[in-house]
Amino acid sequence: MIITPINPSDRQALAKLQHSVDFLLRYQVPARIPQSVPAKKIVNCRHCKEEFAVTQPQGECKHHSGKLERQGNDLIYTCCKRSNGAAPCARSTRHVYSQDNAAEACSIIPFVTVTKTPKQAYDALALDCEMGYTSLGSEVLRLTVVDFVTEKTVLDVYVKPKGQVWDYATRYSGVTSEHMVNALSLEDARAKLINMMSPQTILIGHGLDHDLVCLRLAHAAVIDTSLFFPHQDGLPKRRSLKVLAMELLGRHIQADDQFHNPVEDALTALHIVKQRINRV
Ligand SMILES: [Zn+2]
Ligand SMILES: [Zn+2]
Repeated sequence: MIITPINPSDRQALAKLQHSVDFLLRYQVPARIPQSVPAKKIVNCRHCKEEFAVTQPQGECKHHSGKLERQGNDLIYTCCKRSNGAAPCARSTRHVYSQDNAAEACSIIPFVTVTKTPKQAYDALALDCEMGYTSLGSEVLRLTVVDFVTEKTVLDVYVKPKGQVWDYATRYSGVTSEHMVNALSLEDARAKLINMMSPQTILIGHGLDHDLVCLRLAHAAVIDTSLFFPHQDGLPKRRSLKVLAMELLGRHIQADDQFHNPVEDALTALHIVKQRINRV
């Protein structure tokens, strides 16, 4: 492995963009290993918002499988193209949930952090995970990492979840049970990432709070594009990567009829950061 070092002016610019630990923690980014608290047994379904017990997910789940997206003055569901408030277009026989609270997530699968500096470590990496829903909440199904300098993909592996899979979210993730045949464990996939990093390696991404919680990776050097360009209603609402890609880069990503491409998503966050440091 030969790592091309970042140029000093980019390194300085990135250091300026890095969020403080306090800021990251305020927005649920696990900048340090959280203190574990027992996970809630009653949760809200990610799809239909209804409450259910994690041990009893069976039930009629009526929902929209897509997101609400602004089109002119209207909010339109990406799934069925109907407007906000329209009757749900999808139904399933099971609710799903996401374990977004780092302290609770910690009680289910423990966190690690980067402690060692290998002989060679990347200065900055862009990261994107595809997730699915399991009996343990949201879990990583695919981990993709792109080098800031060369923009080459340096890691792209499928990850086998620990819980019983409820939904591969294939419509977005592109992942199916077939990808699980040669998938790595979370620990092995994460170790591949950690082996390329030092505690100072800057991780770049969009909505990294969710990726890092699912990876159970605490890290303090983070640039999260979702925290740079707040939603008009203010944080914690965030603007989607898709919208930012169009506005800032004039790039159309995540078409409604396509799987998310994690390489493209990681590169998009990376290019938004590069555009920003060139402006500074
Ligand atoms: Zn719909
Ligand atoms: Zn539901």
